Amino acid sequence: MADQPLASPPAPAPFREPLVFVDLETTGANPVRDRITEIGIVEVSAAGVTQWSSLVNPGIPIPPFIQGLTNISDEMVADAPPFADLAEEVLGRLKGRLFVAHNARFDYGFLKNEFRRLGLKFHATVLCTVKLSRKLEPQHHRHSLDALVERHGLYDEHRHRALSDARLIHQFWDRLHGKYAPEPIWAAVETLTQRPKLPPHLPPEALDDLPELPGVYLLYGQEADGEPLYIGKSSNLRQRVFSHFSGDQKDARDTAMAAQVYRVEWRETAGELGAMLLEAKLLQAHRPSLNRHQKKGGELCAWQLVQEAPGDFRPRLVLADELDFGRSPDLYGLFNSAKEARNSLKKIGDAHHLCHVLLGLEKQRPGKPCFGHQMHNCKGACCGKESLSQHSARLMAALAKLKIKEWPYAGPIGLVEKDDFSSTTDLHVVDHWAYLGTAQREEQVWEILQQQGSRPAAFDQETYRLINKAIAQGAVEVRELTPPVQPA
Ligand SMILES: [Zn+2]
Repeated sequence: MADQPLASPPAPAPFREPLVFVDLETTGANPVRDRITEIGIVEVSAAGVTQWSSLVNPGIPIPPFIQGLTNISDEMVADAPPFADLAEEVLGRLKGRLFVAHNARFDYGFLKNEFRRLGLKFHATVLCTVKLSRKLEPQHHRHSLDALVERHGLYDEHRHRALSDARLIHQFWDRLHGKYAPEPIWAAVETLTQRPKLPPHLPPEALDDLPELPGVYLLYGQEADGEPLYIGKSSNLRQRVFSHFSGDQKDARDTAMAAQVYRVEWRETAGELGAMLLEAKLLQAHRPSLNRHQKKGGELCAWQLVQEAPGDFRPRLVLADELDFGRSPDLYGLFNSAKEARNSLKKIGDAHHLCHVLLGLEKQRPGKPCFGHQMHNCKGACCGKESLSQHSARLMAALAKLKIKEWPYAGPIGLVEKDDFSSTTDLHVVDHWAYLGTAQREEQVWEILQQQGSRPAAFDQETYRLINKAIAQGAVEVRELTPPVQPA
């Protein structure tokens, strides 16, 4: 039994911020396969309450069971506009408002997918009235809309149609304000929506358009044309950026970020590989102060095996600054400093009984074997007890695991990364382990390659690792790129 059956409409809740109470009817429960058949929106703004609703032609048949439930038939939606024709209107009504719905994940998920199919971005702070009811009235076990209708004496004529149910949720909201003071209600809203407090210098709308898509974000400080303070990547930009500024478990870096950030920029990518490649490229270019970097003074280096005499291979330390690692053969590494390279070679040498003199780790004393040989660790290549070619062969085998892969293609390639949902495709242009850029259209590929022509991109350890892994795992399609023939 209802507490207040068919009571007069509740007094309106005091206005605090713009709200939209949303309800949808659909062809089923699957937001990917099913479609919206009706949208109902009750908007609460400072100016008052307005309502809007429309039937939507879903483009697919409505199952008889659903027709019975929603009272929306195929005939009713046959002449209704498709979602594409309503999208801008709906977006305008929802944007920048707290999105309130019953089982909000359902309605929010459906709308997000419909927008995404059209290439439109939509996101909102979402308040679920099931959760709100449970939070404020935990003594009750049932929080379905039917239960709330009964418990709070809500009424609307066309129960189960979209606008009618949106009105019921709105009535529920007003009813709560008749029953409780605003503070506990809004405290519950803040807890349930987990709205982060934005950093003090960031304009309130700065993050409104952050998409829930993969990409790279850059945080900037006060100077208008300064370098970024921090660069990061995520498969969900919105979630990741907000996570820096929310939560009580802030680390020191997040605190510094929140205090210093004045501006946030982002670049969307079709997938995670693109985000990682772009992040590596931007980190290398900008070296932002709040990112963790390799130790200062570090220089990327490797061992290169050089044939000094027929069959006699010796390791030579080479720096990425001086040699293009993407185009040089017989490299082993990588190391972040000469010291690290030497330590690693020494360890491998000792494990494989190689000669420190031949490895260049110890000076040859005239007429004497190396120290290791006296300790029975070196097999004696330094004093004729092992041939130089045999020592070289053992050295190559010992270093094999560290070998830097030589570029296996004739020239540049494209790594194809697709986002099936929004049907965007990124083509990451890569040459000799260097990431040159990402193209969405064919002609961009050649622009990227032409720009690159004069100056090869620097070898980057992280980029090498990412490309190598993506190709080895077969995670992306590889397309060999042959430049168009230039007119003579
Ligand atoms: Zn020796």
